[in-house]
Amino acid sequence: MNLTEGDVDMTEPQPPRLALPPRRKVLFRGIACTAGGAMLLAPLTSARAAKVGQAAVGYQSSPKGDQQCSNCAQFAAPNACNFVDGNISPSGWCQIWAKKS
Ligand code: SF4
Repeated sequence: MNLTEGDVDMTEPQPPRLALPPRRKVLFRGIACTAGGAMLLAPLTSARAAKVGQAAVGYQSSPKGDQQCSNCAQFAAPNACNFVDGNISPSGWCQIWAKKS
């Protein structure tokens, strides 16, 4: 027997068909998943906004070689850092220094 696309060969065992849920259930589940995901991520985003203490990253008010806050990607002039809390000297340094591009 020649089968064309879309034909089902009834001589072969077929896998059971899964019943698709009604469109409203799918829509509701999608919304519930989105809301649940947002609730789970909320603490992460607020935690990410919190800065770490200077001691935690070994902050010092003097440079380390040619590495200093003023040439770090995280430095926020005139005296702040996006990751480290408190007053940050442009000539300071810490362990998470990253070269400004
Ligand atoms: S070295 Fe960079 S990350 Fe560390 S305190 Fe200075 S600006 Fe912030």
